[in-house]
Amino acid sequence: MNFNERVYNFSAGPSMLPLEVLEKVQAELLNYDSSGMSVMEMSHRSKTYERIINDAETNLRKLMNIPENYKVLFLQGGATLQFSMVPINLLTGSKKADYVVTGTWAEKAAQEATKYGDIVVTASSKDKMFTYIPKLSGNDFRPDADYIYITLNNTVYGSKYSYIPDTGNIPLVSDWSSGILSEVIDVSRFGLLYAGAQKNIAPAGVTIVIIRDDLIGYAPANTPVYMDYKTHAENASLYNTPPSFSIYVAGEVFKYLLSKGGVAVQEKLNREKAAKLYDYIDSSKLYKAPVEKESRSLMNVVFVTGDKELDKRFVTEAREEGLIDLGGHRSIGGMRASIYNAMPMEGIDRLINFMQKFESINLG
Ligand code: PMP
Repeated sequence: MNFNERVYNFSAGPSMLPLEVLEKVQAELLNYDSSGMSVMEMSHRSKTYERIINDAETNLRKLMNIPENYKVLFLQGGATLQFSMVPINLLTGSKKADYVVTGTWAEKAAQEATKYGDIVVTASSKDKMFTYIPKLSGNDFRPDADYIYITLNNTVYGSKYSYIPDTGNIPLVSDWSSGILSEVIDVSRFGLLYAGAQKNIAPAGVTIVIIRDDLIGYAPANTPVYMDYKTHAENASLYNTPPSFSIYVAGEVFKYLLSKGGVAVQEKLNREKAAKLYDYIDSSKLYKAPVEKESRSLMNVVFVTGDKELDKRFVTEAREEGLIDLGGHRSIGGMRASIYNAMPMEGIDRLINFMQKFESINLG
């Protein structure tokens, strides 16, 4: 199917970016700020690029209220490389870490970490197909663990922590790939937060790591130079060529979010968008959202009809109306509407409209 205009893209990532930002990038594509070239052609050692990356960091710090004693790193390798970098850099004391498995990505992170130390899955929601977030308390963690690992938003199953677990003095590490900048969180509660950019921030290519100073510098001597946080912390993310274009777009998204009032304003809108969609699903006779109410993601809304063939038809017919990529993750099927920051309320309205129509035709 060909589209002559922009569609509502519900993909889990890469996903929609704000139109205003895309237009700005388009306008600057051939000649950025009178440099006579595109950012993608520009030396990462130039003064112009230095300003781009520095401004991006400054604006992210403002948006997330990142304390001074945290470093912000712009890395490559996706969130997946962090599954390895986290244990390599942080398993430096007892070499124990406790993982909470609330979905596919947490499971993968835990599996990877077992290569490097004594990893325990201390809690999991696998017993109920990852439809809830376990309630964690201090007793769930080994007191000598080097860190505790959680996935704040679970992209595949559509669940999210509604609280930040209290881990006392043990650093809390979280994958925040599908939630970063979607709601206000207190960075100081974490030792390390990371996120791939391709959902709420920028094109794929850059991964953002926010790490407390005192956790840097303990990687074993045989750690590949790229995989030591210290390498990037000491070189302001310019040890080697960074994903320069992605960082530039990220910087534009940060400026855009600041101009709209910041993360609290975005969170309010996200809550309204998600509530509208979940309320409709809960009131319908055809659709069901399997995740328990308290643990529902604001970003990835998972729902099913209970009939696999009907689910498939839903996805195909929605596509014909310009509502794209509503299929659930290839591992679970059903439907998933990823409604990241850049999805406007009109996209939610259009989706609900289509769902109503589909329901009235298919509820016999
Ligand atoms: N963690 C989460 C929560 C994700 O949603 C994803 C990708 N969808 C990943 C990790 C893997 O990210 P990447 O493809 O950037 O390695």
